[in-house]
Amino acid sequence: MNIHEYQAKALFEKFGVPVPKGAPAKSAADFDPALANFAEGTIVVKAQIHAGGRGKGTFTDGFKGGVKLCPSRAAAKETAAKMLGNTLVTAQTGPAGRKVQTIYFTEACAIKKEYYLAILLDRASSRPVIVASTEGGVEIEKVAHETPEKITKVFVDPAYGLADFQVRELIFKLGFTGNEAKNAGKLIRQLYACFWETDASMVEVNPLITTAGGDVLALDAKVSFDDNALFRHPEIVALRDLNEEDPKEIEASKFSLSYIALDGNIACLVNGAGLAMSTMDIIKHFGGTPANFLDVGGGASKEQVVAAFKIILGDPNVKGIVVNIFGGIMDCNVIAQGIVEAVKEVGLKLPLVVRLEGNNVVAGKATLAASGLKLVSGDTMADAAQKIVKRVA
Ligand code: ADP
Ligand code: MG
Repeated sequence: MNIHEYQAKALFEKFGVPVPKGAPAKSAADFDPALANFAEGTIVVKAQIHAGGRGKGTFTDGFKGGVKLCPSRAAAKETAAKMLGNTLVTAQTGPAGRKVQTIYFTEACAIKKEYYLAILLDRASSRPVIVASTEGGVEIEKVAHETPEKITKVFVDPAYGLADFQVRELIFKLGFTGNEAKNAGKLIRQLYACFWETDASMVEVNPLITTAGGDVLALDAKVSFDDNALFRHPEIVALRDLNEEDPKEIEASKFSLSYIALDGNIACLVNGAGLAMSTMDIIKHFGGTPANFLDVGGGASKEQVVAAFKIILGDPNVKGIVVNIFGGIMDCNVIAQGIVEAVKEVGLKLPLVVRLEGNNVVAGKATLAASGLKLVSGDTMADAAQKIVKRVA
């Protein structure tokens, strides 16, 4: 689960990570009360969407920049009005962009230097890794590609936590001395506490900045959480913004289906994440493009299968469906009944290829045959993939 910058900064504050003062606004009526928190002078207006690269982004009406330095409160209000409700396209949103439904006003900082600091999970070592660089503000992927020596990584043993020598190593590599070193050390420890205690999968500060006065602040904040740990954090679940999520994915989560929308035209309904991945691969292999990842789980009910069909048909790009079920725990006949019911309920007109194998497959195939539905049966995964690719071509 992801949250907005303004929410991430409020969370940072709880953990003592210094951030510039700010106030969010969700409607034009909120602008004046939010701006009353600031003295007259330069104010930064920031569009709140779950995507980075806002500074360099452009709104669909041509207005440039989702992060704007404004010389006065009146100018900030005018800029906020242009952003709110407008759609911002950045390098991370895709061409459709994201509608801005919240604005964040924040203090303008006199930046001495911008750095990069992030904490995430390193799957290879099964440890949190702190990634830091003196090249902040810019795209970190580019730094990693062109000048990897400018990126420092510190792996934290979760049993011991972040050690002082590791904090010193980071401070040294980033070139901090004096007051900056003291403040940066404190910030790194507090950011690690935030990452650890909230079960975050990533906290990213880009840029982390220093000021002439020796302060070190998080100027931007991006935080995502491990969905599997959300049950421990109701206060974080409360920060979820459904506007930022694909409605089909929200619907899927209500039925405990793992669904991820993609941009192809062949919908897949599969049981098991591994099989779902291989199904997408084999569709690609035969020249098609999957419209989604969908795992109905090891023990899906008829209702879940019906819900799954409705969700995949909610995607207007879908031109055909392939069902690939291996019945290990799953009873193939339950899936077959779900398919029959779903197809009748939604009045399916698109080509449907079904490959069933495993537990109770004979009864499953009999159910499909007896239903009189116009569906094509696939004998193997390859056969099913080729058949659906041919039918949507
Ligand atoms: P994004 O990463 O989505 O583009 P950022 O919050 O990182 O958004 O802002 C982009 C750039 O705008 C920053 O690298 C920084 O140079 C500038 N900026 C952002 N917030 C402030 C601020 N409060 N004061 C001064 N400059 C800012
Ligand atoms: Mg940024």
